Amino acid sequence: METEKKIAITFDDGPNPNTLLILEVLKKHNVKAAFFCIGKNIEKYPEIFEQVISENHIVANHSYGHSSLFDFFRKSQVIDELNKTDSIIAKVLGKKPLFFRPPYGVTTPSIRRALEVTKHKLIGWNVRSLDGIIKNEKIIFNRIIKRVKPGAIILMHDTTFESVSVLEQLLLFLKKNNYKVVAIDQLLNLKAYEN
Ligand SMILES: [Zn+2]
Repeated sequence: METEKKIAITFDDGPNPNTLLILEVLKKHNVKAAFFCIGKNIEKYPEIFEQVISENHIVANHSYGHSSLFDFFRKSQVIDELNKTDSIIAKVLGKKPLFFRPPYGVTTPSIRRALEVTKHKLIGWNVRSLDGIIKNEKIIFNRIIKRVKPGAIILMHDTTFESVSVLEQLLLFLKKNNYKVVAIDQLLNLKAYEN
């Protein structure tokens, strides 16, 4: 029986210089999150990616290029994107990530067929903050807390400045309301990495 109100927080689209501000807030509140990283951004900001790992957050695959045409990619193109980002991650982490979230969260038949080959687990969300679209921190915050419930997976973006203060307010809200923020592998009882 579920005795605790558990939720997980996930960040898409990094790493990015703004990720450092997110890491600071997470550290202050002693919270572990998951970062769905874009391969080409890891290549651009390797030190920031290493810091995410050294602070024991989960890292996962969010494609290599985050193409706006990703929905139209064939199975082989999706596999290429996944493998490329896996090896970039594995070079730093020493192991392959098993979690994948498609760009824009859209899962196509090609993506499904690709995942059967690559063996990644598709990780969605059920609370979308719209922090990449709305630029008003109060509205973003209210959107999230209205939708939070036990088992929630919150989608945020570590690439937007607004999400830093929203995260701070959110963590205070969750604490006050007896929510426990756990890492997503724990929430879903799934392995985040190979081995
Ligand atoms: Zn994304």
